[in-house]
Amino acid sequence: MPEPRLVRVALPLPLETLFTYGVPERFARTAVPGARVEVPFGRRTLQGAIVPGNDDKAPDPAALKEIVAVLDDEPALTPELLDLTAWIAEYYACSWGEALKAALPPPAATALVERHVRLAAAAPAPPDAPGAPAAPTGTPAKPAGSRQQAVLDFLQARAGDTARAGGTASAEDWVRIATVAGETGASHATIAALEKRGLVETADLETSRAMGSQPQHQAPKTIEAPALQAHQVVAADALRAAIATNQYAAFLLHGVTGSGKTEVYMAALDATLARGRSGIVLVPEIALTPQTVRRFRKRFGNQVAVLHSRMAAGERFDTWREIRRGLHRVVIGPRSAIFAPVPNLGLVVVDEEHEASYKQFDPAPRYHARDVALVRASRAGAVCVLGSATPSLESWFNATAGKLVLLSMPDRIAVAGHPPARLPDVRIVDLVAERKSGRSDSAISAALQKAIAKRLTNKEQIILLQNRRGYAPVLECADCGWSPQCPDCSVTLTVHKSKRQLRCHYCGRAFRIESACPECSGGGLRQLGAGTQRVEEELAELFPDARLLRMDLDTTGRKDSHDRILARFGAGEADILVGTQMVAKGLDFERVTLVGVIDADAGLLFPDFRSDERIFQLLTQVAGRAGRAELHGEVILQTRHADHPVIRLAKHHDYLGFVAEVLPTREALGWPPYTRLVRVEFRGPDEKPVADLAARWAKTFDPGDHPIEVLGPAPAFIARVNRSWRFHVILR
Ligand code: ADP
Ligand code: ZN
Ligand code: ZN
Repeated sequence: MPEPRLVRVALPLPLETLFTYGVPERFARTAVPGARVEVPFGRRTLQGAIVPGNDDKAPDPAALKEIVAVLDDEPALTPELLDLTAWIAEYYACSWGEALKAALPPPAATALVERHVRLAAAAPAPPDAPGAPAAPTGTPAKPAGSRQQAVLDFLQARAGDTARAGGTASAEDWVRIATVAGETGASHATIAALEKRGLVETADLETSRAMGSQPQHQAPKTIEAPALQAHQVVAADALRAAIATNQYAAFLLHGVTGSGKTEVYMAALDATLARGRSGIVLVPEIALTPQTVRRFRKRFGNQVAVLHSRMAAGERFDTWREIRRGLHRVVIGPRSAIFAPVPNLGLVVVDEEHEASYKQFDPAPRYHARDVALVRASRAGAVCVLGSATPSLESWFNATAGKLVLLSMPDRIAVAGHPPARLPDVRIVDLVAERKSGRSDSAISAALQKAIAKRLTNKEQIILLQNRRGYAPVLECADCGWSPQCPDCSVTLTVHKSKRQLRCHYCGRAFRIESACPECSGGGLRQLGAGTQRVEEELAELFPDARLLRMDLDTTGRKDSHDRILARFGAGEADILVGTQMVAKGLDFERVTLVGVIDADAGLLFPDFRSDERIFQLLTQVAGRAGRAELHGEVILQTRHADHPVIRLAKHHDYLGFVAEVLPTREALGWPPYTRLVRVEFRGPDEKPVADLAARWAKTFDPGDHPIEVLGPAPAFIARVNRSWRFHVILR
């Protein structure tokens, strides 16, 4: 007997090694690099993928195990994705198998096979007069012959549709028997009778559960691109020129909210498709961006596939395979869509590139999709566009360093003959002053109440943001707004109730909780937080006639709930939308003229060195929802930090001012983008062993010749999750 061929398999385990298996003869053709396989591992059977190359040392033949199944006829992973995931494993310190898991469709999914029917290829023309034998069973409501005729008519019409749509008759004429039965009322017996007469044929075939594959979802390419406005033309031309070279190029598209970035992406996509290449468009969260997805579908029709984790496993699997086969050349999705198996990738767009949701924290691979996008594009010779009204400081820094080409669109789109819509006016309500003046304790200040009343009278719409990040256990003085900070790290300290301490979650230093505010000597120190629900209740009392909608984690548990809430708001079924940061994202509702931020400080005090950046981005984004069309918009920010630079700069939509303010601080304190951070987390069921291990690891970590500083250990920001204690060490 010949020796079995050996292959290396990457398994989704946190182990650096690859595993060698033998290939039984029956898998000789399909067991190739990129194929998903099932293999025995200990007592279990695991799913992994074959990777290229061979082990140096021959395995012990007695211990050699064999592959038990190959899951794909055609390898699931292209060489491009094998290569990309190898990079991910290396860069993000995980196993190749873990990285591959992020790139593969859900493991449980397989193709759905159902019985199909079509007109027989060499069928005699269906007889006009039904002199054929009657079907053996069925209700007598219709004569059997006419039921058979209904089936034939239906199939004929379907075949005609396919032919008219430019499809090749034959493969695509197959229709699920269940569909035929549903449409014509025919039973299985009717079809069996037709088959017996040689008029139709049946077969077991794969049914696609991908959304675009069902005729009712086929959006024809109807919407033509609007003529781009001057500032858009400049940006689009730069992208088109890069696309024409077929080489890697990376851009940062900095355009204010409503400047028409999406149209620029679509222009770039047009150019990409015209060259026979494909594109991936990343959006922060699919549920929050239904409008963006709809715009791409309208423009590019059925070429668009949407890929995200809320899809049913079968639908996701089929969509994934259709992408792999080149049936959809535009893929839209959240961070994981960066792994979409599009052939011949020519363009990657990362919309709202500053969004934190592009970073995956758990499980491995803990990748940042924006960075993976740049790497994938560079390896594929594709163009990468990062777009935002408030770019991350990392990307801004990379643009100034020449790694990204900066494209700027400082003006909003001009609507039909009007000058460009102005960015909304931002008014600041100083809550400290309000409190001193003895006004009510309401979460909604008098000024905001007045503004809401006015918009309600005008029948315009209102968005209110209550940032839930405020639930972070941080202390704040209600009288003066003071909040304790770590003197070394310049981040807000968090409250650790069990120990009655304040801790810095970067360096780990602990401080006493004072009873009085050291700034104003007042006794107003308290923990922050008034949730969206309380805001909604207050609104209901203040404006009993207003129609309210709330959007937060509690109201969006179900699959389409975001979309439904947004659709209702868009249709004018509500006057006020209250929500967490979900409401700040790329919504485009022309009747929204007032945006209110209930507590701008909650995010400001988030214990993160990026909190300034996050809150500036959030305030700018949410402000951008107001006055996008003809109606002028207004924004009201409620704050206890009216003179904080971030609040001041957000008031003026001043991104460049913000950069000038914050980058020098980052440099002085040694935070990114001037340094890089690696967070090493330790977890376990008991606090002390975890803390001890983290401490030991930090002490013995050897940076070699690298200028690496070890911070901590410190309790993680949320020190206990799921009964698991978490400590971390930061490497800088
Ligand atoms: P951004 O993504 O920068 O916030 P959008 O692409 O959503 O901006 O554009 C804002 C609005 O202007 C949208 O309603 C869009 O349809 C419209 N728009 C964009 N470009 C044009 C154009 N060239 N002509 C007419 N309307 C446009
Ligand atoms: Zn105080
Ligand atoms: Zn510190």
